[in-house]
Amino acid sequence: MEKTVSLSLDSPVTALKNVGAKRAALYEKLGIRTVSDLLRFYPRSYIDYTSPIMAADGQEGESCVIKGYVLKKLQPAPIRKGLVIYKILANDGLSNFQVTIFNNEYAYYGIKTGEEYVFAGKFSAKGRVFQLAMTSYLPAEDAGILRPVYNLTEGLTNGMVVNNLTEAIVCADQLEDPLPKELLQDQKLCQLRYAIENIHFPNGREAYEIARRRLVFEEFFTMSLALIKLRGREKAATAVQLANTDITPFEASLPFALTGAQRRAIGEILADMKKSYPMNRLLQGDVGSGKTMVAAAAVYAAAKNGYQSAVMAPTEILAAQHFATFSKVLEPLGVKVCLLTGSLTPRQKELLKEEIAAGTYDTVVGTHALVQNSTVFHNLGLVITDEQHRFGVEQRRRLAGKGESPHSLVMSATPIPRTLALIVYGDLDLSVLDELPKGRQTVETLVIHSDKRNRALGFVKEHIAAGEQAYIVCPLVEESDSGLLAASQYKDQIAGAFPGISVGLLHGKMRPAEKDAVMSAFQKNEIQLLVSTTVVEVGVDVPNATVMMVENAERFGLAQLHQLRGRVGRGSKKSYCILVSDNDGEENRKRLKVMKSTADGFVIAREDLKLRGSGDFFGSRQSGMPALAIADLFEDAGMFAEAQEAARALLKDDPELEKLENHPLKVIIDRIFDQNKDGWN
Ligand code: ADP
Ligand code: MG
Repeated sequence: MEKTVSLSLDSPVTALKNVGAKRAALYEKLGIRTVSDLLRFYPRSYIDYTSPIMAADGQEGESCVIKGYVLKKLQPAPIRKGLVIYKILANDGLSNFQVTIFNNEYAYYGIKTGEEYVFAGKFSAKGRVFQLAMTSYLPAEDAGILRPVYNLTEGLTNGMVVNNLTEAIVCADQLEDPLPKELLQDQKLCQLRYAIENIHFPNGREAYEIARRRLVFEEFFTMSLALIKLRGREKAATAVQLANTDITPFEASLPFALTGAQRRAIGEILADMKKSYPMNRLLQGDVGSGKTMVAAAAVYAAAKNGYQSAVMAPTEILAAQHFATFSKVLEPLGVKVCLLTGSLTPRQKELLKEEIAAGTYDTVVGTHALVQNSTVFHNLGLVITDEQHRFGVEQRRRLAGKGESPHSLVMSATPIPRTLALIVYGDLDLSVLDELPKGRQTVETLVIHSDKRNRALGFVKEHIAAGEQAYIVCPLVEESDSGLLAASQYKDQIAGAFPGISVGLLHGKMRPAEKDAVMSAFQKNEIQLLVSTTVVEVGVDVPNATVMMVENAERFGLAQLHQLRGRVGRGSKKSYCILVSDNDGEENRKRLKVMKSTADGFVIAREDLKLRGSGDFFGSRQSGMPALAIADLFEDAGMFAEAQEAARALLKDDPELEKLENHPLKVIIDRIFDQNKDGWN
């Protein structure tokens, strides 16, 4: 089909050659509707034809590029119906290598004997016989380029995207640069047009670097603008201004001295609560850093000033645990604490809510569902949300609507570096607990195959015999045909091996009251061995537990394993984490090695990101990360500060982005808000 209408940025992708309804639907899946969308669809990576290696230097299983003359084209070998393997023998000047092409006759016949090419693909070697499973190739004279590789969807090939972009790229001329000229000059950034052209079809490595730097800056810059504006909206006045923030009695009543980090965080929180606008603070600390005591100090201060606090936990188990902790430390100081739990009868719930509304209790602990829905407070001054990554901005706001703009403290056990936290939780101020209480020992981590399971169970038994407790975590609740271990069956199977020891079972499908009962029995050491799913993952605090055994460890993310391991080593006794996995794949081995080599949640988060890519780590809505099209949160973190600084300066000059020259920016920001209406948790 001949298409003659001249292309513009707003043209639908169907205006491009070879794009009909079918391909347009595939593009739609990737969020691409117009030519302009396509131009902003940045490559995921590049095949670097500019730096070929010698076949003899190839690494088994790695992708690489080798340049060579074609010596001979072998006869096509049909393997079976629909699969033909084409083989080509080439020489890189030093050694011969074999190029294998799967099913692509077009490529095979395009390659000529005696000519020189650059072949890209996956390398393997059998002795001195080198093989390249080819994915793409270029004639050697065209080899001075980086070839873009796009994130595809089934049915859409890289070649199709490249072809469409080759046509669409002329429209880069029409792009209006949203970044102000002075900013481009100050930051030494190239123009948008150049950036778009060279991000898709880099004119050499340097051009690529220049293009990428500009686009990363733009992304951070626009995101910062959006975040600063979001934050501005929250600075409504609060009626909750604490007059007295002396917490000496609270500190004096604790059985231990607060850590320096705890003291600092409490100081920051109390200073916020004295101000005339609501606190919006994130308390971030590695597992076991003692966030709960910081929260208790804030609750204490609020109560002494006559304000109620709401403490929300992501699970019933944690709510019950917080209730126990808060009662223990606060009740003796005259602060009344209640627990709003799912195991109350409707009548009990109603009564309790009446009392809360009447101001009988200073602190209400519960799951967010319970505390948020239909709970009326007498005078709510402080909202504490534990384990931030399970809650969203919207939820926080909804609760904040319950009082006269109460202060808000969010606690997170997913440690991420400060710069990242600024991006992810851009609407929050940040306090960090970067110090563990004294006397903590690092948890010794062992990785074993399942054939050592019995020995591991023997080890668990020894520790229980010494008066300690243990967890065994399985990925599933009930057995399925997945081959994974399930907590219910596991418990039944091993119970016999632990005579005289009380083995408990805990999983998410149990009723709240059942879970409470099991958890509290474990807390009291009436249960010594707890077989569980990841419901124990976040926050559970039983200092007498010293062994955490995780079955099918390959099924859990690094951050999750770190959380699980954080359930032990909370007291002063030596603790162990045993990771059981029969998966010997390279990726899994790398992951488990990270677990063995470090106990630092920040390092683990970083490795997790590296291994999974930020898409996965921050990809889910839960994490609340606005999607990044090009910036890498770790690699580019340094540029974020500059971009944020520039965003502040711009907003100082034009707070509502009303100036004509800032209009294109405003359009982008509005779109960011729009796309993240219910995201940005
Ligand atoms: P997390 O930050 O993981 O939520 P918790 O608040 O549950 O950690 O605290 C972990 C354990 O450390 C608890 O048993 C708590 O009582 C104890 N703890 C908290 N602060 C201190 C401290 N300053 N010194 C000693 N132990 C502490
Ligand atoms: Mg906690």
